[in-house]
Amino acid sequence: MVSFATSLTKESIVDVEGVISVPDKLITGATQHVEIQVRKLYCISRAVPNLPFNIEDASQSKTEFKKAEESGEQLVRVGQDTKLNNRGLDLRTPANQAIFRVKSVGVNKGRQFLLSKNFVEIFTPKVIAGSSEGGAEVFKLDYKGKPACLAQSPQLHKQMTICGGFDRVFEVGPVFRAENSYTHRHLCEFVGLDIEMEIKEHYYEVCDIVEELFVEIFNHLNDNCCKELEVIKLQYPFQPIKYLPKRLTYDEGVRMLKQEAGVEIEPMGDLSTEAEKKLGKLVSDKYNTDFFILTKFPLGIRPFYTMPCHDNSEYSNSFDVFLRGEEIISGSQRIHDPEMLTKRAEQCGIDVETISTYMDSFRNATRLHGGFGAGLERIVMLFCGLNNIRKCSLFPRDPQRLNPLNDPACLPMTILFLSFFSFHLIKP
Ligand code: ATP
Repeated sequence: MVSFATSLTKESIVDVEGVISVPDKLITGATQHVEIQVRKLYCISRAVPNLPFNIEDASQSKTEFKKAEESGEQLVRVGQDTKLNNRGLDLRTPANQAIFRVKSVGVNKGRQFLLSKNFVEIFTPKVIAGSSEGGAEVFKLDYKGKPACLAQSPQLHKQMTICGGFDRVFEVGPVFRAENSYTHRHLCEFVGLDIEMEIKEHYYEVCDIVEELFVEIFNHLNDNCCKELEVIKLQYPFQPIKYLPKRLTYDEGVRMLKQEAGVEIEPMGDLSTEAEKKLGKLVSDKYNTDFFILTKFPLGIRPFYTMPCHDNSEYSNSFDVFLRGEEIISGSQRIHDPEMLTKRAEQCGIDVETISTYMDSFRNATRLHGGFGAGLERIVMLFCGLNNIRKCSLFPRDPQRLNPLNDPACLPMTILFLSFFSFHLIKP
């Protein structure tokens, strides 16, 4: 049996029958306090002898690399692409197991919270005609001879659901963005948590839901995922977030950046990633929180459906939410008046014909409403202090990665095959 056992390759799956006992002294290894005296051993599935990498190597932390370097020891480094190309194996590292458990626990807590607040979970189509909002690039496709695209957000459909008489709805589903963003925080496909709700008096009611929802989720993760968070920290050390909610207006944020950090923002312009990070640091130092909402953004930098402020139409009833100095959520009150909506869409260069059914929904009268969109991978990344969003997506899709193999030699072949295939579809 010993020779059979030693012939087994790493990562093979085995069934063991034996007696569990407590050894006289601690054993070296992962489980130190108990041992199994093996009576029978079966191999259920044998791994190949030459794995792409060892799980131990893929689990090393920066600290371990540093220690090894100082002591002149050589550790094997497994790069991110190699890990993602072999994601089926890479997911076995303790940190990855923990990251995806945290994501699952967080989403479920959010869902529970929203259901308890009378939100209805909805499922909107991901193949749509035209583009959801204009602006960002979309993945175009051919839908039985008609031009279509993958939804860049459930925005228009969730608003149409409100027009359809629902008070409060939410969706957890895939969101597709085709822009060429090669950053640590952009994916081409991510999981969005979107909500839309009736507003009684003020769009701050939506901000209230954001704060309650995320404080509830973060509390729940800290209380129920301690082990997972410790495991993640072992490989990727991080400080827990401080999340006492704070609200500031866009103007206050811009002023803080100018007066306290000397950072100038283009008048009524968007904050750059660097400015966002700087503001996050200022807010953290001043208000002792990593979780804050910036409200009342200039209208000109928000999507066409955003409601302008009553008192000053240069500004809008909108907000962004930040965690550790990075945007995690965008939200606003939406325009419910069809004339005003048409005017804003045209001003923003949107062909209203392509979204006529959305526009028409507002002609039957619609209640005041607002909502927000959040990206789950980005939230998990920032909650766990990770440096790359790809770590929080099971099989990340980015401008250069379409499948877990990502074999550069395969890609031209795939494109060739697809063009050949579609050519034959078009010309039978
Ligand atoms: P950014 O300015 O970071 O590109 P955005 O303003 O385009 O984001 P929205 O369209 O408002 O973002 O989307 C709402 C939320 O969805 C963002 O706050 C973020 O959490 C998430 N999100 C947006 N784009 C991406 C992306 N490409 N990859 C991952 N998450 C994203």
